[in-house]
Amino acid sequence: MTIKVGINGYGTIGKRVADAVAMQKDMKLIGVTAHSYSFNTEVAKQKGYKIFAVNGGADLKLNGIKPDGNMSNLLEEADLIVDATPRKTGKENIEKYYKPKKLKAIVQGGEKHETTGTSFVAQCNYDEAFGRDYVRIVSCNTTGLCRTLHAVDEKYGIASVHATMIRRGADPGDIYHGPINAIVPVLEMPSHHGPDVQTVLNNIEIFTTALSVPSTLMHLHTLTVDLKKKANVDDAVELFKNSTRIRIVRNAEHLRSTAEIIEFARDMGRLRGDMPEICVWQEAIGVISNSYNKLLYMQAVHQESDVIPENIDCIRAMMGFKDGDKSIEMTNKTFGIR
Ligand code: NAD
Repeated sequence: MTIKVGINGYGTIGKRVADAVAMQKDMKLIGVTAHSYSFNTEVAKQKGYKIFAVNGGADLKLNGIKPDGNMSNLLEEADLIVDATPRKTGKENIEKYYKPKKLKAIVQGGEKHETTGTSFVAQCNYDEAFGRDYVRIVSCNTTGLCRTLHAVDEKYGIASVHATMIRRGADPGDIYHGPINAIVPVLEMPSHHGPDVQTVLNNIEIFTTALSVPSTLMHLHTLTVDLKKKANVDDAVELFKNSTRIRIVRNAEHLRSTAEIIEFARDMGRLRGDMPEICVWQEAIGVISNSYNKLLYMQAVHQESDVIPENIDCIRAMMGFKDGDKSIEMTNKTFGIR
């Protein structure tokens, strides 16, 4: 079966999901929406993607682009829509477009868990999305936390987690957000990330704090995990090395910072210089095992790309593909990750 996928919202996340769908043998990209004309529309056109106008398409025509249809045409042709519109618009679109057409849809981490009732990270809860009509892919930060914590919980059992998210101030192409010269703490305890992790890993006790810094490349998380069983550093390194969509990075490779990790992704020839794997620093993994069993580690999260493989696996789960491990393997192959 070929799954016909439409993308509504062709920005940071939408354009990456569109390219990823186009790479899957069992999927067909029906096309992408254009809310307003921009360089994104030009690139979509160059790639041969069909463009569906959301707002009548007057500005597309003004700029020499003839839309291939409108939103109703996209909804008619697709089996499922990946909605990657800005925060809160996904929720509105479910009511406005997808429910009336009885069309399955995925929304992104800017929406609340309650919007779909199912939140998704493939290696943690693939089966929960099986056959569902509406599913939310959790945010980039929550995806990063869930991937590594799930691996740690399976091996050692987690008693509790304290984590701090040092977040990039804006995406590289974003000229509106910041800060450009400040460190801005989230003045709420816990930050929303902890409760969000529990929408996927509901048995984990987690408390999170967060702050934003003047950087655009990646987020950095520091985690302190109280374990039920004793760990040692070598085992923990092996655990992360052997877990899918997690990459161990090392000082010896000169991967000492988010800047060097992104440069590495560019040098590997990754599309857009993306790093969908969660990068855990080998030398920043530590264990305290006197009277406590504590595991400490630091990880970097590429906010623009870690959720993209999740969208692909979620499409398969919602369309009735039973084998989560197989889906992850198929997706990973197309991304060149493991
Ligand atoms: P974005 O602003 O880069 O892209 C949104 C796109 O949607 C733009 O192209 C915009 O023109 C278009 N758009 C706006 N209103 C629309 C409408 N009514 N109908 C159709 N298209 C419309 O946003 P983004 O960063 O890709 O975020 C999309 C979603 O993904 C949000 O829920 C966000 O929270 C989530 N997310 C973002 C990141 C990230 O780092 N950027 C990471 C993970 C999840």
